[in-house]
Amino acid sequence: MAERVLPPTAGLPLRAADLLPWGDADLATALAQWLGVPAVQLECSGTSALMVALQTLRRLAPGRSEVIAPAYTCPLVALAVAHCGLQLRLCDLHPDTLDMDPARLRALCSERTLAVLPTHLCGRVADVAAAVDCARAVGAWVVEDAAQALGARLRGEPVGWQGDVGFYSLAVGKGLTTFEGGVLLARDPALREALRETHAASVRQDRGWELRRSLELLGYAALYRPAGLDLAYGRPLRDALSRSDWVQAAGDDFDDGIPRHELGAWRRRVGRRALARLADFQQRLQRQARERGAWLSAIDGIEVVGDTVPGAQGVWPVLLLRLRDAATRDALLRAQWGRGWGLSLPFVHVLPDYGRYDHVLGLARQDVVDQGRDWARRLVAVGNSLWFDDARFEALLSLLERPHAAPG
Ligand SMILES: *Cc1c(COP(=O)(O)O)cnc(C)c1O
Repeated sequence: MAERVLPPTAGLPLRAADLLPWGDADLATALAQWLGVPAVQLECSGTSALMVALQTLRRLAPGRSEVIAPAYTCPLVALAVAHCGLQLRLCDLHPDTLDMDPARLRALCSERTLAVLPTHLCGRVADVAAAVDCARAVGAWVVEDAAQALGARLRGEPVGWQGDVGFYSLAVGKGLTTFEGGVLLARDPALREALRETHAASVRQDRGWELRRSLELLGYAALYRPAGLDLAYGRPLRDALSRSDWVQAAGDDFDDGIPRHELGAWRRRVGRRALARLADFQQRLQRQARERGAWLSAIDGIEVVGDTVPGAQGVWPVLLLRLRDAATRDALLRAQWGRGWGLSLPFVHVLPDYGRYDHVLGLARQDVVDQGRDWARRLVAVGNSLWFDDARFEALLSLLERPHAAPG
């Protein structure tokens, strides 16, 4: 029998008992307790959470119109910024870390800047303090994009808590999931109140979207398991790759419409029950990542990307590798992406290189993104699922040790 398809990221699998229709629906309180913060606010997606944050800050500083994000980030960030009527500016990455380059960031910050978005990409903890310094110098806010980093901590505090506002995504593939969902947090009680006001003014219940998301969550519960992943993930992936469509293969093909509605009670119940297993799950992922990271970084030409801040405790949905050069990375993906190893790309390109997002970039199309582009061309993610057993991981290791071998 052929080897089973591994997932590209380690999502928390759901159990039948998670799906019961009754029970406590107060996911917000449960999450706040789990994180150790006074309160969080639920939204229907990370993107919608970012929009609530930006709309709130815009109300507090109507004269400011620019949002600075890393050049290599989720295209949904660009869509959210444009939907809020704001101008995105792209900050190039540092050559040695996945963070925004502080010198480039300082040059981009001005009295037009509304917010700076340090991003904890793939669960790696970014240097928020550096972004705070730049933002404060011009009177701007910091919104931490912790979409992929629920559970990551720095000096005992959750990521998302160092900036002015932080958000997590509960989308499929990002750990704890309600299929789509978002979480907002803010340290300042007045800002929390302002976020609640924005939500009350702009977000409504929507039964159509809630029904759709509920069915999608049931589909995830049914198929996010070794026997279901070929149907749910492997086949569409191979189909996209057969057309050489890497943007679709990586799931970077977003359209402009961003649904905005309340996160329904049943999905909150499901999330609340699954949350009880998240800490233990993430500990197991961390142990596995530590062991496998050591093996991978021993290979010539492979660098395992770590947390930018020393002493931080990131989360490990994937192990992120930077390869020697773009040609090696591309050869690996052409030969192996569709073969079920759980290889993936966080994102295919820096934002200006997609083309399909040009209509929301505006001025940002001219921003310098050279280092970000170099990162984009050399990164590959290896899924850290607990279904990825040692024998199979060793097979991947030996394949990575001879990158120029003919594809098997
Ligand atoms: C996924 C993601 C988002 C958007 O979150 P959704 O819940 O999918 O809307 C924003 N930023 C980053 C870095 C992401 O990975």
